[in-house]
Amino acid sequence: MGTVLRAEVTAPDRAAALGAIQAAFDSVSAVDRVLSTWRDDSDIARLNHAAPGDTVALSPALGRLLDEASRWSRRTDGAFDPAVGSLVDAWDLRGRGRLPVPEALAAARRTAGLGQFWFGRDDRSAFRRSAGAWLDTGGFGKGVALRAAVAALRSAGITAGAINFGGQVAVLGGGPDGSGWPVPVADPARRSVPAALLRVRDASVSTSGQSERFVVIGKHRFGHILDPRTGRPAPAWGSVTVVADDPAVADILSTALFVLGPDAGLTWAERQGDVAALFLIRGADGLELRATRALRALLVTVPSTDSGG
Ligand code: ADP
Ligand code: MG
Repeated sequence: MGTVLRAEVTAPDRAAALGAIQAAFDSVSAVDRVLSTWRDDSDIARLNHAAPGDTVALSPALGRLLDEASRWSRRTDGAFDPAVGSLVDAWDLRGRGRLPVPEALAAARRTAGLGQFWFGRDDRSAFRRSAGAWLDTGGFGKGVALRAAVAALRSAGITAGAINFGGQVAVLGGGPDGSGWPVPVADPARRSVPAALLRVRDASVSTSGQSERFVVIGKHRFGHILDPRTGRPAPAWGSVTVVADDPAVADILSTALFVLGPDAGLTWAERQGDVAALFLIRGADGLELRATRALRALLVTVPSTDSGG
């Protein structure tokens, strides 16, 4: 997946620790073979590259994951939608970036969205309806891989540890002193400065924003998270951090809530009842923090909101 995985575990001895970490890495490789859009031989690549209308058999793993992603897409009213591939192409987000001409954007919007895909019964087969449509797993693949890594560690008997996969964190147990693992949340404007500190146990922390991954077109920075409703990169309002037991859910919801933005996102998250989300909103006079009720229980420190803008 083109990113770094770091794992730290507590085990009875060095061999047990190394074995568990190896199992975690292997499980991430297995997810990569199912979901990677950066290689031609993954399960998802076979669907993304098939001729429009040609039915492709889905591996059971891919079928289940696409069903899971589709359900979250419906639940977030389409804010999360992995079928943004045509829009990624239109904006050249995997290249140098490009402002699409209106006709190109309109064409990309017509071929975006999960409606461009047909899924057979039990999600064992699928086809895409047009040549431009493809599923970008970037919004949930890391979380799915972390979920597999955590499961591998647990199967190996590990109950205490922490994994960092490209910035998304998953922890096992309650941390070194039992009060929860400390997980800092960066200031979206200055990534090296922590803006808040969380304490989490047996959970995953995922942050989505536009400050880390973007392309520059003319004088403007465009982030890599697209708003499927407009076909344009979501505006860079700050960042949102989600804490969830399931790393895949944390990953999906941080992407979805970034698209929804701090107002609609907070409303949506509170309506779900148990979604722990922290919105860091960049304003003229510094950083504004907004947290759902579930998140406030995990928040240890809120430094001065005067972050200098
Ligand atoms: P990161 O991968 O940097 O942690 P995210 O988890 O927020 O960030 O995922 C962003 C990625 O998700 C994009 O690079 C793209 O591959 C994909 N994506 C972009 N917009 C959407 C969207 N609206 N729904 C689902 N996936 C998206
Ligand atoms: Mg995500």
